[in-house]
Amino acid sequence: MTQRSQPKQPSAAGGSKSKQIKLVLLGESGVGKSSIALRYVRGEFNENGEATIGAAFLTKTVNVRGQSVKFDIWDTAGQERYHSLAPMYYRGAPAAIIVYDVTSTSSFTRAQAWIKELLQQANSQMVICLAGNKADMASEKRAVSREEGKDHADEHGLLFTETSAKTGLNVEDMFINLAAKIVATTMSPGN
Ligand code: GDP
Ligand code: MG
Repeated sequence: MTQRSQPKQPSAAGGSKSKQIKLVLLGESGVGKSSIALRYVRGEFNENGEATIGAAFLTKTVNVRGQSVKFDIWDTAGQERYHSLAPMYYRGAPAAIIVYDVTSTSSFTRAQAWIKELLQQANSQMVICLAGNKADMASEKRAVSREEGKDHADEHGLLFTETSAKTGLNVEDMFINLAAKIVATTMSPGN
């Protein structure tokens, strides 16, 4: 494992400490997990071939409601093909984004299986967002309706959004909303 323990950083926004959040990206190969991470952390998109992040994880620190939040974003980087390796990625993670491709029904089926697995095995506090990626292709090639995605997320109490790593649509908002939900559920009252 390459996870390093890092000292907590002082918040840029005041006295409170930075909150570190491990976030795992899960979903069928090719749905755009690496592209979402790259878009969010570096503001880049690579149209050609696989987005190789070249690191075990990417980090980004943001400010959410006055709380400094440092994401450690774990990209499953091809390991999604070897299902038995997945638990070591998501174990202990307080946040997950399960990605499917709105132009692929099989990827939506796979996403549903991930949701089932996480809800059965992971800690019940895990904040999960279901993300229908490649929304920029929806007008021509949509195979999964927005309602199907949203209904499935609602059924399991998950956040939901449709994203495009290509255009950036909803990518930043998705991370912010995840962080906000985590901050809201873990911060002590009155602070
Ligand atoms: P991963 O296997 O889930 O990590 O998927 P990648 O990030 O490697 O993306 C797979 C392919 O889909 C690449 O060719 C990307 O350029 C493309 N891709 C990823 N996100 C989007 C998107 O939002 N829109 C479009 N049109 N293509 C995307
Ligand atoms: Mg990848």
